[in-house]
Amino acid sequence: MHHASHTAYRGRLAPSPTGHLHLGHARTFWVAQQRAHSRNGTLIFRNEDLDRARCKQEFVTAMFDDLRWFGFDWQEGPDCGGQFAPYNQSERTSFYRAVLDQLYATGLVYPCTCSRKDIAAASHAPHAEDDDEPIYAGTCRANRESEIVNRKFSWRFRVPDGETISFTDDNLGPQSFIAGKDFGDFVIWRLDDVPAYQLACVVDDAAMQISEVVRGADLLVSTARQILLYRALGLRVPEFFHCSLMTDESGVRLAKRHDSLSLRKLREHGELPEALRGNW
Ligand SMILES: [Zn+2]
Repeated sequence: MHHASHTAYRGRLAPSPTGHLHLGHARTFWVAQQRAHSRNGTLIFRNEDLDRARCKQEFVTAMFDDLRWFGFDWQEGPDCGGQFAPYNQSERTSFYRAVLDQLYATGLVYPCTCSRKDIAAASHAPHAEDDDEPIYAGTCRANRESEIVNRKFSWRFRVPDGETISFTDDNLGPQSFIAGKDFGDFVIWRLDDVPAYQLACVVDDAAMQISEVVRGADLLVSTARQILLYRALGLRVPEFFHCSLMTDESGVRLAKRHDSLSLRKLREHGELPEALRGNW
């Protein structure tokens, strides 16, 4: 670290209650907790429950339960409060809406009426590995909100085509992605009137004064997207530490469908967290 600032370390755990958390989540979160501990920092728990169709209360309950069992301990969160409450994203919509308005005023966002089908037909695969979002062809770039009648639309952020977005990852070193090639114009507000991940994440990490974001390497490209949002909003960009992802015996990345490696199942089978953490 070659930072002149002496700001306190603030990290976060930001799970989404769309299923049971698995060992891969726990490993990334463990790194986050260790990094916060080693700097005498604060760990924030943020419940990313914006997707009302996929998030379930039983998973929220399980998430707290399973993480506590595993040995996690946070100082701010939905269950213990804190100076940047609320920590449930579903209760923070007014913050996201204000930032959407702010971005709208910069002229960097436009309404997109494309359906999922339209997008698949017009886009091409991204160059960057580990990012499965197709590159949006820019079909709606010239759209104006006033011309859209009786149709649903999402809000997209226009990326500076050809510009290289670089950052130094605290774990993986120098990274760079080319806008328009590795990733395209991305959704910041969804068709179903839900703030998109990229927007909510930036708004909250900034509002909660997160100094370092620790998360999975599948989000490296999203970091480039998010840096563009920080820039458009005039916000300080946090540090990033991306962890390599855990795979199963056949090399497949762990997903919520790997039920046998869910913290819940491991606990039911009498596994001990210390043993599971064994060689982390
Ligand atoms: Zn479109």
